[in-house]
Amino acid sequence: MNLQSGTYYWPATLPDPPTYPALSEDLVCDILIVGGGSSGAQSAYALANSGLRVVVIEKNTIGSGSTATNTALIQYSGEKMFTDLIHTFGEEATARHLQLLRQAIDQLETTAGNVAMDFEFRRRDTLYFASCDEDVAKLHKEYQYLKDHGCSLDFWDRKTVKAHYPFSHEAAIYSYGDAELNPFKFTHALLQDAAAKGVGIYEHTAMNGHRYDRERQRMIVTTRGGHHIDARYVIFAAGYEGIDIRKEPQASFVSTYTVTTEPIADLSSWYNRTLIWETARPYLYLRTTADDRVIIGGLDETTDIAEQRDNKLHHRQQQLMDALRQRFPDISFELAYANTAFYGGIRDGLPLIGQYDDYPHCYFIFAFGDNGTVYSQTLVNVIVDDIVQGYSPDMELYRQDRPVLNSVST
Ligand SMILES: Cc1cc2nc3c(=O)[nH]c(=O)nc-3n(C[C@H](O)[C@H](O)[C@H](O)COP(=O)(O)OP(=O)(O)OC[C@H]3O[C@@H](n4cnc5c(N)ncnc54)[C@H](O)[C@@H]3O)c2cc1C
Repeated sequence: MNLQSGTYYWPATLPDPPTYPALSEDLVCDILIVGGGSSGAQSAYALANSGLRVVVIEKNTIGSGSTATNTALIQYSGEKMFTDLIHTFGEEATARHLQLLRQAIDQLETTAGNVAMDFEFRRRDTLYFASCDEDVAKLHKEYQYLKDHGCSLDFWDRKTVKAHYPFSHEAAIYSYGDAELNPFKFTHALLQDAAAKGVGIYEHTAMNGHRYDRERQRMIVTTRGGHHIDARYVIFAAGYEGIDIRKEPQASFVSTYTVTTEPIADLSSWYNRTLIWETARPYLYLRTTADDRVIIGGLDETTDIAEQRDNKLHHRQQQLMDALRQRFPDISFELAYANTAFYGGIRDGLPLIGQYDDYPHCYFIFAFGDNGTVYSQTLVNVIVDDIVQGYSPDMELYRQDRPVLNSVST
């Protein structure tokens, strides 16, 4: 899959990252993780203390997939509102999903304090505004749901929005305790820690085949270099390219655009440096960075053809810069990086763990959706419990064959 094109900010923040060798021999391990992006790193980090022999293979270099374009707003609220998810999954499952996402954000904060490399995790509040007056009632219903489930947030009217920002909207949810991070450093930080605890990490090592040894109940993965890795379990953390390995009918793709500005001298008109997004679909979203840049993304296109996606980059980057200047007219923004990427979703609105009969002893992390980093953390927790303890009570909620009240057409 041709994932993305353009220029990338995050890798530039760590110009001399840790490197790992290519695999040069056959290996036997308990768990093989295919993919060295943030999901693979989260898996490796979670398993590093398990006493199991864990190996990660990455076909390119660490963090060079969607991790390099991830704008890394760390939130529990996603494209589909919880008040809508209830119609598909019911009250209990939706409330459990919310609880697990909030726990995952807390876990990311704990991880930030436990690894050596600073991955720029910062707690941030979020402004989630109604893009049009018709969305106000829906937004208020969502606010009430989140409030009833223990989330810390306020409902703001136009006057209150205007009092805090240089723009105004009819209403907004102002929520406390979301976060942001640097996804490239995050991935390297976790893998560096995992490597120090004995996890084997190999770059420039692509999986290009597999077979299942039924008698020994082991997966034998073949690499492009002709080596074999004999594993009890395989976790496919190949990001959107996971569907090149195993098709999943619930997955869908659009194209999206982001720009990152040069550092800004004065961000004081940006109240609390909040994460900002809106109820429109597709939506625009904004954040600031540790070195005082601004990232804005959105303007999604329905195409999943790379050439069509790339042809629109120049025009879309101008539109994103205009949207930024319109919201913060007192700030002088200069474009530094711009890219376009495929962006995956799961049709029924929840991230998904693929477990298929044709891939025994394997878990596919399909953490697709706007909160991919938080979804991956949640799915990794479920998978690790399933492997290490033999059971996770939440597997049924995230497996591809989960029960739904009203199925979404695929
Ligand atoms: C523009 C954009 C904005 C986003 N914004 C947000 C956001 O604000 N918040 C958020 O939480 N999420 C966001 N996401 C989602 C987020 O980027 C993803 O959830 C996350 O990066 C996924 O990481 P990953 O490790 O699963 O995938 P990747 O980073 O793509 O890593 C997968 C790795 O697997 C490797 N691989 C693939 N096939 C093989 C093979 N056969 N053998 C060996 N290695 C292989 C690839 O080379 C790649 O490095 C955004 C995504 C995009 C595109």
